[in-house]
Amino acid sequence: MFEAESEIERESMPVDVLFVGGGPACLAGALHLMDLIEKHNEGVAAGTIEGEEYDEPMIGLIEKGSEIGSHGISGAVLDPRALDELIPDWKDDSSFPLERYVEREAMLMLADEERGFPLPFMPPEFHDHGKPIVSIAKFQKWLGEKAEEKGVMVFPGFAGVELLYDEDGKCNGVRTGDKGVGPNGEQKDNFEPGMDLESPVTILGEGPRGHLARILMNKYGLQEGRNEMGYETGCKEVLEFPEGTIKDGFVYLLAGYPLQNIFGKGPFGGGFIYSMGGDRVCIGLLATLDAEDPGMDVHYLLQKTKMHPKVREILAGGKVIKYGAKAVTVGGWGCMPKLYAPGAMIVGDSASFLNAARIKGIHLAMKSGMLAAETAFEAMKSGDNSETAMAKFKEAIDASWVREEMEPTKNFHAGFANNGMVGGTIKFGLSKIFGSGEIEKLHADHEGMKKVSEFHASGKLPEQSAPGKYPDLEYDGTYIIDKLTDVYLSATKHDEHQPCHLKVADTEICATKCAEEYGNPCERFCPAQVYNMVMNEEAGRKELQVDFSNCVHCKTCDIRDPYQIIQWVPPEGGDGPEYGIL
Ligand code: SF4
Repeated sequence: MFEAESEIERESMPVDVLFVGGGPACLAGALHLMDLIEKHNEGVAAGTIEGEEYDEPMIGLIEKGSEIGSHGISGAVLDPRALDELIPDWKDDSSFPLERYVEREAMLMLADEERGFPLPFMPPEFHDHGKPIVSIAKFQKWLGEKAEEKGVMVFPGFAGVELLYDEDGKCNGVRTGDKGVGPNGEQKDNFEPGMDLESPVTILGEGPRGHLARILMNKYGLQEGRNEMGYETGCKEVLEFPEGTIKDGFVYLLAGYPLQNIFGKGPFGGGFIYSMGGDRVCIGLLATLDAEDPGMDVHYLLQKTKMHPKVREILAGGKVIKYGAKAVTVGGWGCMPKLYAPGAMIVGDSASFLNAARIKGIHLAMKSGMLAAETAFEAMKSGDNSETAMAKFKEAIDASWVREEMEPTKNFHAGFANNGMVGGTIKFGLSKIFGSGEIEKLHADHEGMKKVSEFHASGKLPEQSAPGKYPDLEYDGTYIIDKLTDVYLSATKHDEHQPCHLKVADTEICATKCAEEYGNPCERFCPAQVYNMVMNEEAGRKELQVDFSNCVHCKTCDIRDPYQIIQWVPPEGGDGPEYGIL
């Protein structure tokens, strides 16, 4: 059955403040807001603060994953600076999901396919000794439970699909996605209309390339006159070892092969290996999404990294049990959008709160959420949600340690993107002595890819032996894994009877222009084998097939597609990966 959008009856629910996204930014923000309200109420009761008590504050948080943490995958050696402010006694809390503390660390330079050596020193930015290693999925779950205990209304399984506006054009909350919609938009027997969560203040923290954050940015021109956000895509696996194998907390940072080395070959990026609890070790590799190579496949590069003898030494005996992938906002301060609009603020990765020079963002995301919460509380008290009121958020960021940490590294990403590994390293070193100067101009990621004929002398992309498989990898199903097996290990699921959430504006381009110019790079850059060019015998050509049920919501396609004809929109709430331990 079809029903016109205007005829669908939707429930509306007014809230005081709405957080969109169940990551560290929004969870920390929601918790901090509840603390501020509690302190305010105590002050009013004691007569030290003027005003009304908030008996039943309505603070809502929605998350598209089936539960809080199911889509969490960020790097997870945690700088606890924001956590110390939010929950000062976290170390004494027996429910804190600590994996280990970092006891030893090293930087491994992989010179080529065979050779590698530990650097005799660690750049100070990378020092992690004594910091907690956490599974971000478990950490988010823990924060989510704390938020619920404090009275935050947490709604997992609800994707925000549209922004709502009031009569003055100010953002006024979010509409969640309909459930039970068939592939062609028809209402199935289990149809449930999405809800309108009406909120004078909406805080968007949907992670990298947030869907609603992009809508807000486009409506209010929040990125105008600034660098586009810069991204890398990271693929990550958890390996399990026989009992008693992993004895301490260690971190190895990986540089060089198969990514760019000092001779300037390959895409820029880096990797990491760290030990977790329960005889598990995590390995991840990140590569920039403006890479020139149209054949770049981060999943393949991760498998190549694992084949390196120096990496095999560390991971010998391990079996891959979990996989995930996600884009990461690496542009930092130099790519930050305007952070607010009337009735709304953007926090966390959605607004580029990550310091790529330290490969750390969780603490910055959390602090951004907490400062947005302070602005939201002022708006609650004054009833003013104008742009001027929301601008206090940016003022608070500028006056905080977030700026102190991020501003000096504002050109870190641009330095490497514009000058390569050697030039970028020299520029970054000089910036520490002479200051970082003006923000360096940066091209948008999708403009970086070269055509096959320009990049590969053969005029062809390297052969795949099957989709997601390469002839030079020794797949064994336990250590070297093909892409589809890894997708299985991500526990991703989507109801297949729903509209495809990957909107390709013109599939004719895929079959013709893109095939010829770029060799259909979506088949490689998607870390979940969602895009496949399949032979249509009748048409006598290969055409695009989108296996959207594999999608791990990494957003790479939305960012790297050279024609910018792919748009990622949220599928039915509750669908997607189930990371659990990543
Ligand atoms: Fe990532 Fe796009 Fe592939 Fe989904 S379809 S896994 S968002 S690249």
